[in-house]
Amino acid sequence: MDHAMTIARPYRGRLAPSPTGYLHLGHARTFWTAQQRAVERGGTLILRNDDLDRARCRPEFVAAMLEDLRWFGCSWSEGPDVSGPHAPYEQSARLPIYVAAFERLRAAGFAYPCGCSRQDVLRALTAPHQGDEEPVYPGTCRGRSAAVASPLTQNWRFRVPDGEAVEFHDGSAGAQRAVAGEDFGDFLIWRKDGFPSYQLACAVDDAEMEITEVVRGADLITSTFRQLLLLRALGFTTPEYFHGPLVTDEHGMRLAKRHDALSLRALQAAGRRPEDLHAR
Ligand code: GLU
Repeated sequence: MDHAMTIARPYRGRLAPSPTGYLHLGHARTFWTAQQRAVERGGTLILRNDDLDRARCRPEFVAAMLEDLRWFGCSWSEGPDVSGPHAPYEQSARLPIYVAAFERLRAAGFAYPCGCSRQDVLRALTAPHQGDEEPVYPGTCRGRSAAVASPLTQNWRFRVPDGEAVEFHDGSAGAQRAVAGEDFGDFLIWRKDGFPSYQLACAVDDAEMEITEVVRGADLITSTFRQLLLLRALGFTTPEYFHGPLVTDEHGMRLAKRHDALSLRALQAAGRRPEDLHAR
């Protein structure tokens, strides 16, 4: 692409929590960074509810997530509770958009149906955070034809360009590079239960919602390589990326929802003030 010809788009950032539990300090710090970067650039912040995993997402966590983010000091001008030009902002209500993208990938020869029942198939609805990265798929089903009856009831993988180095500059972590087929393999884009994978839904939404910078934790850098390949295959403009350092506990472990004492609710109940928790 000729970068000299690229016209700067107005800054649009997003907060993309998954309502599978109460938000904790680790999430909130990332969201605070996203919020500040949007404000500093006079941009727009979007709240997207990543609720694809119907078995794990719960309505009470959606309500808590909005409440806790507001208490922490985040504010957004587009989202499930305020609507906006790219509504709906809940992934579970955007299935037709994902079906259309999947069909485009399938028609263009980027995908193949996969009959393997592996952990990565089971986990595909949620973002692979630290320790959740899948092993490189050995390619067992690569030769299968994409011309199948009722494609939406099968699992599908994206065929990565083996040996190609995918590179991007990260606003926080610097130069990034991974080799397709070595550092990550063919990954799930569609599940036979009729849902897109996190990778497909996230890439499509970031593009459709005209996000110009994705701010998230450093453990999702490998997902970014996959999402860049999806965006290219779909002909979408790619956003910039800013993968911030992860907040860790006293043992150096990434904070997870199981660290209940550090949930925003618990911190609020303990009398902590948001402004004392904002430090980057
Ligand atoms: N909902 C995803 C998560 O909780 C978002 C990941 C992303 O920002 O792309 O990890």
